[in-house]
Amino acid sequence: MRIYLLFFSLIFPLVVSAQMPVERTLAITFDDLPFASVPSEDNAALEHMTGRLLQSLQASHAPTVGFVNEAKLYREGSLDPARVEWLRRWLAAGFELGNHTYSHPSLNRVPLDAFEADLLRGEAVTRPLMQSAGQTLRWFRHPFLHLGKTPEVRAAFQDFLTGHGYRAAPVTVNNSEWVFAVAYARAQAQGDQDSARRIGAAYVPYMEAVFTRTEQLALDLFGRNIPHVLVLHANSLNADYFSALAAMLKQRGYRFITLGEALQDRAYQSPMAYSGIEGESWLEGWSRAAGLRPSQQAPVPGFVIQRAGPAAYRGY
Ligand SMILES: [Zn+2]
Repeated sequence: MRIYLLFFSLIFPLVVSAQMPVERTLAITFDDLPFASVPSEDNAALEHMTGRLLQSLQASHAPTVGFVNEAKLYREGSLDPARVEWLRRWLAAGFELGNHTYSHPSLNRVPLDAFEADLLRGEAVTRPLMQSAGQTLRWFRHPFLHLGKTPEVRAAFQDFLTGHGYRAAPVTVNNSEWVFAVAYARAQAQGDQDSARRIGAAYVPYMEAVFTRTEQLALDLFGRNIPHVLVLHANSLNADYFSALAAMLKQRGYRFITLGEALQDRAYQSPMAYSGIEGESWLEGWSRAAGLRPSQQAPVPGFVIQRAGPAAYRGY
């Protein structure tokens, strides 16, 4: 009997863990609304991209925050009502909007007061839009994920955010989706559909490699996977491939949650060593603070970098 119990207590946890699906959760965010890389910046093409992207997001049941650069709502110096309408469509589709500054400056490169002024200029349209949809503007995303070069700037900016009712939206899944998007839009603009398809076909496997690496970073640091926050951009690549990306993530065991839910995890209270490396994620900063060196990024295929050209090094 005792031997049987011992056997059972050894085997039972294995049986349970084999049967229980891995619980993985992810909050999805989009930057550079209303649009980033698209083959053409005429309104018809941009509207088409917005419609397709929102459709895919709704079909995947992913709660999403879209971060706006209001400078992109202007054409030849005046506010374009059509572009404002696209933001309204994000809200009508059930998503939330956040502030990504007006003109996408870097907090590492411009003085704090200029940066704060740009941020406030970036809520002129979005804040009233949110109010009329019964929502409150509350999320901020740092352009280039640049958090400020010194502890003093970072602390002062944190006070500014709090004072204006904002919370910074972290990113844990560092990725180069935007390089694929630049390459994809360029191939499409040149009418090269074969290349566009090849770039699109490489995108989801690349993102799977990104998640493999990110999960390992979380495991190395916390001994478990954490609720992650992914940043993507409002571009043609995701209008065409977000559904495939979401399918891969669901296959991997991910359930989509809100940004607020993700941030409830205690991991988000971790101390951060800030490297200043463009695009580096919170998870990498936490790892550095714990004395770990983040592993190499998942590689972007050479033909994608080549097609993206010099824009591949410009960052987000
Ligand atoms: Zn951005």
